[in-house]
Amino acid sequence: MLSLRCKCGGLRGAVHGLSPSTGLRSVCYCDDCQAYAHFLGRASDILDASGGTDVFSVRPSQLEITLGHENLTCVRLTEKGMYRWYADCCQTPIANSMAWTKAPFAGLVHSIMDYAASGTKRDEALGPIAARVQGKFGIPPLPAGTHKTVSFSFLLRVVSFMLKGLWAKQHQPSPFFHTDGRPRARPRVLTPAEREELRKKVSSR
Ligand SMILES: [Zn+2]
Ligand SMILES: [Zn+2]
Repeated sequence: MLSLRCKCGGLRGAVHGLSPSTGLRSVCYCDDCQAYAHFLGRASDILDASGGTDVFSVRPSQLEITLGHENLTCVRLTEKGMYRWYADCCQTPIANSMAWTKAPFAGLVHSIMDYAASGTKRDEALGPIAARVQGKFGIPPLPAGTHKTVSFSFLLRVVSFMLKGLWAKQHQPSPFFHTDGRPRARPRVLTPAEREELRKKVSSR
């Protein structure tokens, strides 16, 4: 079990049954992930030096929010974009969910994981970074091995992760969606003007 905790402690939870072999750890440099960090006003501590976000894939059924449900908030950069869940008490990102709300997937963002409280470290809990993706949006110099978009082998691993999760129906129970797929917090959808403002900040720090 790994503890989840937003920066201020207003939202807490846990991810169960987590080990390096249960999910995929990747760093995403895409413009949306960067824009999102700027939206939260937390780019400096969410993004790495090249604009990447460290994300680990888990099953919604592994996740539990134990405190501060009222702080659970959601934004979508576009009408059909990912559901990006965060704690609005201190703007800490929690996880990203696909637009298809029954997907057995949540991309847990590193900043919500409380390694110290769990007596571990990021590399120990999640294993090494398996892939660095969407490097075309990153801020050079990018770490060696960063893919411009997504490598085929990584794509295959994602597909396999999804298929196993579908088979085991691990999209539920979910802290983010009701069983009928409705989100537990009404997502705010950014206006084109808001999105444009954020995009200007992407790849410039
Ligand atoms: Zn908080
Ligand atoms: Zn991304």
